[in-house]
Amino acid sequence: MAGAGFIGCLAASTLQAQRLPTNVTPQHYTLELAPDLKTASFTGKERIEVTLAQPASSITLNAAQITFQSVTIAADGKTQTAKVSEDKANQQVTFQVADPIPAGEAAIDIQYTGILNGQLRGFYLSKTPKRNYAVTQFEPTDARRAFPSFDEPAMKAKFSTTLIVDKGDMAISNTNVISDQPGPGADKHTVRFATTPKMSTYLVAFLVGDFQCVSGSSDGVPIRACATPDKVGMASYALTGAEFFLHYYDTYFGIKYPMPKLDMVAIPDFEAGAMENFGAITYRETALLVDAKTASIGAKKLVAVDVAHEMAHQWFGDMVTMQWWNNLWLNEGFATWMESKAVEAWKPEWHLQQDVALATDGVLNYDAGKVTRAIRAKAETPAEINEMFDGITYQKGGAVLDMTENYEGKEVFRQGVHKYLSAHMYGNATAQDFWNAQTAVSGKPIDKVMDSFIAQPGVPLLKFSAPQNGSTATSQQRFYLSPEITAQQSQVWTVPVCFKSGSGSSATAKCALLSSAQQSLAVPSAEIFYANANDKGYYRTEYAPADYSKILSAVETGLTPAERIGFAGNEWALMRSGRGNVGDYMDLVSALRNDPNGGVIGELSGAIDAVDARIATPADRKLLAAWVRRQFRPAYDRVATITPTDSAEKRELRATLFGMLGEIGHDPQIIAEARQMTDKYLADPASVEPTLVRPAIFISTANGDSQLFDRLQQVSQTSNNPEAKTTALFALATFHNPELLRRALDYATSGKVRNQDSVFLFVVAMRDRDTRPIAWDYMQKNWDKVHAQLTTMMGGYLVGSAGSFCSAEKAQEVQTFFSTHPVTAAQKAMQRATDSIHDCTVLRAAQQPNLATWLSRQGAQ
Ligand SMILES: [Zn+2]
Repeated sequence: MAGAGFIGCLAASTLQAQRLPTNVTPQHYTLELAPDLKTASFTGKERIEVTLAQPASSITLNAAQITFQSVTIAADGKTQTAKVSEDKANQQVTFQVADPIPAGEAAIDIQYTGILNGQLRGFYLSKTPKRNYAVTQFEPTDARRAFPSFDEPAMKAKFSTTLIVDKGDMAISNTNVISDQPGPGADKHTVRFATTPKMSTYLVAFLVGDFQCVSGSSDGVPIRACATPDKVGMASYALTGAEFFLHYYDTYFGIKYPMPKLDMVAIPDFEAGAMENFGAITYRETALLVDAKTASIGAKKLVAVDVAHEMAHQWFGDMVTMQWWNNLWLNEGFATWMESKAVEAWKPEWHLQQDVALATDGVLNYDAGKVTRAIRAKAETPAEINEMFDGITYQKGGAVLDMTENYEGKEVFRQGVHKYLSAHMYGNATAQDFWNAQTAVSGKPIDKVMDSFIAQPGVPLLKFSAPQNGSTATSQQRFYLSPEITAQQSQVWTVPVCFKSGSGSSATAKCALLSSAQQSLAVPSAEIFYANANDKGYYRTEYAPADYSKILSAVETGLTPAERIGFAGNEWALMRSGRGNVGDYMDLVSALRNDPNGGVIGELSGAIDAVDARIATPADRKLLAAWVRRQFRPAYDRVATITPTDSAEKRELRATLFGMLGEIGHDPQIIAEARQMTDKYLADPASVEPTLVRPAIFISTANGDSQLFDRLQQVSQTSNNPEAKTTALFALATFHNPELLRRALDYATSGKVRNQDSVFLFVVAMRDRDTRPIAWDYMQKNWDKVHAQLTTMMGGYLVGSAGSFCSAEKAQEVQTFFSTHPVTAAQKAMQRATDSIHDCTVLRAAQQPNLATWLSRQGAQ
């Protein structure tokens, strides 16, 4: 899966662990499903061919929200009717027969009915104003809501699916259609799909409705991108990307795309970002559909990255699947790592390595909190399995693979991937299988490196003494963002440390392996001593003061853009942990203020925003705003003029500077321009440079009136362009006028906003210091309405959003409120939120005086 755009994902279930017995293994499912879109129900006819290792008189499998009509088990020429007993708490069902079924083959025939639910999980109903759709989301444990099944990833089987749907409706499943016959009755048709290869239940998909598609192909494989009829015109961009990626992956993996066709379908209601169902990928509309002419760079990147991510899963996850959910990172870490590689090949002008550096910096901070976990972690119940879909699995998993590839070399690593995939085709595998393949091809101790990062939680901090005679004394310890936590000295990683070698942009990397708490490492000669070449290391660094000063003085010439992002992120993290002064950090910001890369300015902008929101007093904020204007206005003026040939880099840089000057700098000229631009956009969406639209709207809403609110709300209701619609919708939660903000939150909970989006209005309002008090007050006073919006993933997002407060009093208030108004299984999010509030109070106490001193010095310059 790909996330919905916010880190973290929490489950709404408190089920107890129970794995299925291993005596019975499924071989082949024959499914015939007839959904009724009007009554939100379906009937199912299912045959499961199984193999019994030993004789048994009962068979246990998974089922939830299924009503059984009849169950028979046939074996050895004899058919017996089974008694059905349900264990609802464990989502299991047991079929009992009078006479034991012999070892060997048997067939289970089941007739049942189920519901098309409204919870965005299992077989569910998605709605537009015109009609209903029946669609599926099974990962991780919800195939059992559509058909009784051995619903574990290692219990792979073949599937032969038939869907009986309304005349005129399209049916999509994992494979190609092999027959499409009218009937039964005058108003139905029956669509049969080819038998799949062996695959896991969580990757099965059924999609029914009046979808329309654009078609293409790549390496002989037919590809379609589909949407509701009003939006199919926006599917071509994703289709073009998919054509590129399929050939790219065929070549990279050295294994042809494993299915007969590829469909990609945008679903109006979708909880995650996208889902890699084998041969039938599903997406949130914003993750598949863009109007290529009017889309921002950000919206195009989102589509490209999600399409590349889900397609990488077709090999990594779908063809070769993790043995169990504890190794979910094998799927998700890999797809996260691969997505930017493929998109970088498609659109080199986007400089995806900067986005990778930003993501790695983000997860290093996430992983340096008090509440974290190892990448590979115990996950038995559906609740625990759902909790695995977080930043540690995705971004840390991806970053560790990136570090490993950088250490091995690209081609050697690729060979290891090929070796691993070809050894486990259509089967299951573990972390060891992956790193053993890499160790074998590289001859390097990749098993030790990966094991130390996959099995241990947290972030290493590497300290380097000033190099002498070609070597540096190096030590490692666990790094925490909070200065209050002391490191466990016993925790040691096997870390490939790559030093910059040579000078300037021609510098290459030389890597050494650090494997004990203290060790001397050989250092190549270089213009500057820099121990995280290419920004590929999953660690924080601390240098001797003289070495740091040298890096700082050569930061624009000696480091690459990705390294500058990593370096700034590193200094921010050290300051947070009590190892630095916010004034020194701001001097680094100043040294980078003319950087021509959008990603670098984006990193700085995020940090300045955090200084503004988490450290500054109201008086400091005024001085900080003035400083931001002085520092960054000249850089903006250099790129302000829009020309048709502007590069993506320039467009993103301009938008980031514009947003920073308006939102943090309160630059009156920028604010006026933003409002003009917003009005122009609302009159004619094609008349404004697309990448400036979002910052312009978000600047305007801060001072916006009810007229602007009404117009944005109208766009959010009437636009059929997913980017325009969601930008306008989320902008409603950024109005500073209390009355308008309350209107936005009323609207979010009115039932008129899809529950895939409604919680994000609260998350957006909780982020900003100026809107947060109103949002929090609203949430507490209207809890029943807010709570009614929560689906499985959304509870964690909502609780997590309270972590942006910054006082002991608020920490107490948040804790008290959520302990009396519990959100199911948002326990970890709750812990993170209260830790985050506490950390902020510590940070403010330590750094606000430093900030005030530093700001007073700036005024004179
Ligand atoms: Zn994924």
